[in-house]
Amino acid sequence: MKLYIQVRKFILDIFFPIKCIGCGKEFENLEPRESWICVKCIEKIPIMNQQVCPVCEQFSEDNKTHYRCKDKTFLAGVWVASEYSNEIISQAIHKLKFNFVKDLSFPLSEIVIKSILQVDELSEFHSLILSEFAQESGEEKIYQDEKKNEPSETILIPVPLHKRRYNWRGFNQAFLLSKCIAIKFGLKLEDGLLIRKRNTRPQTKIRSMIKRKENIKDAFSVAENNCIKNKNVIIVDDVCTTSATLDECAKVIKKAGAKNVWGLVVARR
Ligand SMILES: [Zn+2]
Ligand SMILES: [Zn+2]
Repeated sequence: MKLYIQVRKFILDIFFPIKCIGCGKEFENLEPRESWICVKCIEKIPIMNQQVCPVCEQFSEDNKTHYRCKDKTFLAGVWVASEYSNEIISQAIHKLKFNFVKDLSFPLSEIVIKSILQVDELSEFHSLILSEFAQESGEEKIYQDEKKNEPSETILIPVPLHKRRYNWRGFNQAFLLSKCIAIKFGLKLEDGLLIRKRNTRPQTKIRSMIKRKENIKDAFSVAENNCIKNKNVIIVDDVCTTSATLDECAKVIKKAGAKNVWGLVVARR
């Protein structure tokens, strides 16, 4: 079987060489995480240098939902890694979702990780996502010194697909991204805990903000016997348009007893 896979890869490489989706350069025998976007192009991808409030979409100094906007969302904040207007990012996300290029989850999650680590000032979001990372990586004292005393366990939850969409695509892109991020930061990943009950229309196809909210309303539920209580949760998705989907997820996760619920996406459309 292993030989079959190697032979298949060899043949595919000859007839369908993998080219960087940024500059078109061909790859040769590279690691999967370096496929599809070359190192040079990865470096050129802009990293979001400031975050906005998920409600009013205005700049937020501490990366969190504004105090004045708190009543309108269940999200403590949403961390956006890069810009959808960047052609490599939009192409990579499109290819991952609609051309089924699973390996693109590697460079995309690399960009998410880069955006989290490349900041001047650490915020509350960092204290959650880097809570295990600081302990495990000895030389990288990223959060150790500023860490609060109370141990807060953080779990990553990918935005789930409906069964029908999952069967069509064969994988959940949000899960693949979460997996890379969870491994990097030593966090627990809980897949299957959040369930999409309804097969909703894609949010990108709906223009009105109110209709988007209606479309996604009560689409999710949390599995019984869940382990969310008193945990901090980071919901991961590839893109967000408004934060309506993340907010609906946050609603049921909070109801199940979570402390803080954050969103984490590659880009905002
Ligand atoms: Zn390139
Ligand atoms: Zn606001």
